[in-house]
Formats: sequence, structure tokens, C-alpha cells
Amino acid sequence: MEYNYSKLLDRAWANLPEKLKSHSRFEIPKSKIFVEGNQTIIKNFNDIANTLRRDPKHLLTFLLKELAAPGTFDGNRVVIQRVLRKHIIDKKIEDYVNEYVLCHECKRPDTKFTELEGQRIIKCTACGGWRPLRKIK
Ligand SMILES: [Zn+2]
Repeated sequence: MEYNYSKLLDRAWANLPEKLKSHSRFEIPKSKIFVEGNQTIIKNFNDIANTLRRDPKHLLTFLLKELAAPGTFDGNRVVIQRVLRKHIIDKKIEDYVNEYVLCHECKRPDTKFTELEGQRIIKCTACGGWRPLRKIK
């Protein structure tokens, strides 16, 4: 058995990302929905936006574009004019989190929208990483 310093260092580095990951484990909130006629109501919409620390309007704009359906706020809830399955909505929330909440560098959710030289960016307050904010098309 032979241990040398550089091997130990290699192992330390290899272990580091895993540790960071488990430490910053972030649970993506799940939707609570029900269908009424040809509408789908997301009951906990504002809670989801709060957990993600994002403007509910931004999240809704994203969801409606992705789902290709009109929808409106109704207090804490959102009413979408289309019958949808829960797993579809949860998948879209996951897509939103990956694009607009998680830092692509350290994978933490400690990000915010801000501006840099007139450009809208998403910036990580944990590691300082940033990238241009993708417009919702
Ligand atoms: Zn980061």
C-alpha cells in the first residue's frame, strides 16, 4: 500500500463536489393541482414562487409559454385554461429551476436576477458565477 500526498489531494478534490452537493441539497417544490372542467388550478402557485424566491409573474410567464396555454392569477392560485397532468407541470417547474434558479457553476439556488453593463444576468451569491438571463420567448 502506497499513499502519496498528490494522491490524497486528488481524492480530496474528487470528494469535494459531492460534499458541496449534499450540503446544498435543494428540493424543487411540487405543484398541488386539481382539474375543474377544462381548467387546471395550481393551488400552491405563490408558495412555489416564494420557495424559489422568484417573482410569481416571471414563473407564470414561463409556464404559460411552455404549456402553450392562457392562464391567470387567482389569489394564491393560478388558473390555466387547459387540462394538464401534474407531472407535466412539475417537469416545467423543474425546467424553470434549472434555467432561472440554480447556479450552473456550483448548482446552488442562491441566485438573483440583476444587471451587468445593461445586460440582464442571473448571478450566484454563493460563488459569484453568472450568465446572461435567457429571455422567455
Ligand atoms: Zn454558484
